[in-house]
Amino acid sequence: MSVISAVPTALVTGASSGIGAVYAERLAARGHDLLLVARDRQRLEALASDLQARHGINVEVLAADLAQANDLARVEQRLRDDEQIGVLVNNAGIALHGTLAEATPAQIESLVALNIVAVTRLAAAAADRFSGAGRGTIINIASVVALASEMFNAVYSASKAYVLSLSQTLHGELKDKGVQVQVVLPGVTRTEIFERSGLDVTQIDPQMVMEVGEMVDAALSGLDQKELVTIPSLPQATDWQAYIKARDALGPNLSRSSAAARYK
Ligand code: NAP
Repeated sequence: MSVISAVPTALVTGASSGIGAVYAERLAARGHDLLLVARDRQRLEALASDLQARHGINVEVLAADLAQANDLARVEQRLRDDEQIGVLVNNAGIALHGTLAEATPAQIESLVALNIVAVTRLAAAAADRFSGAGRGTIINIASVVALASEMFNAVYSASKAYVLSLSQTLHGELKDKGVQVQVVLPGVTRTEIFERSGLDVTQIDPQMVMEVGEMVDAALSGLDQKELVTIPSLPQATDWQAYIKARDALGPNLSRSSAAARYK
């Protein structure tokens, strides 16, 4: 039987650039060994050598296209089997722009495969093994468009609302099993996601754009504070609590034996 390290290995998806690469760096600085997942093996290997040299941790590269069934199954199995992994950063994602009518079937399918199916299957594999071990951390990267769908592309926004919803339910399922769940809702963050999806970040009001290091540091502070939902730029946490309170106030009336008077 292998000895379980006190600082668990972190599996970071989408680690070859942007938010995932910064998570890899920050977790390495905290002493975690890493398993880096993305499609671009060369970029992952360059990051791995740099982090190993700078932080003296072990880094393994797992090149995988998480929108492809075989590759996803491989990463999922690794999460189920590897007892050293105790942190999942479920970060890989793509964006789309334009209206729903303009989206091609292939674009819709690949976004749903990566932003929804892969995120869900990896979270499920982690939930199963981490709860068995009685410890672990699952960080899901959603977006503020989960709360403001009209701001951006329909499929992308809906995929991020899905990640928020999934995380809220997962937290309820795991909170008494020693597993911490956090969902991060970044606003606009300067990464490659814009050029990859054909958008120009320089066209966005600079007051709305956060640098990626600041975003990830805030998210990790939220994690340390045991937040379920972290919105890095939101000044008052009480504004989020008021939103949840308003939602909860609907609760008693969401399912009743008779329709509301205005519908009769
Ligand atoms: P990014 O720089 O484009 O990084 C995306 C990462 O996902 C890359 O490492 C990419 O690596 C990986 N990836 C893409 N397709 C993949 C696939 N099929 N299989 C495996 N890995 C894949 O973008 P980012 O901004 O850091 O995005 C990270 C997450 O943050 C996403 O979920 C995004 O929706 C979310 N987010 C971003 C913003 C923002 O403004 N930037 C705001 C809110 C939320 P490879 O190309 O090597 O596969």
